[in-house]
Amino acid sequence: MVSAPRAGEGAMTMENFTTLPEGFEVPIEGFVVRCPRCGRNGVLERPRESRPFCLHAQESTLFSDGLRVEPTDSCELPDA
Ligand SMILES: [Zn+2]
Repeated sequence: MVSAPRAGEGAMTMENFTTLPEGFEVPIEGFVVRCPRCGRNGVLERPRESRPFCLHAQESTLFSDGLRVEPTDSCELPDA
């Protein structure tokens, strides 16, 4: 017997931050800045354990145990 996935499970969402205006606040993620490396807009991320990076696009997939988020397009920034 094959069980069909519940509606919405495994659904993938692409989020593109390059189209957002500079200074826009993305809930949880941070603020949109213009990337010094490629000139596109993106969300400035400052992970505690690694270098800051500018996130331009990410893919989120909904699983039964939660949401998995994978950056698909980002630029690593020099330490500020
Ligand atoms: Zn960039």
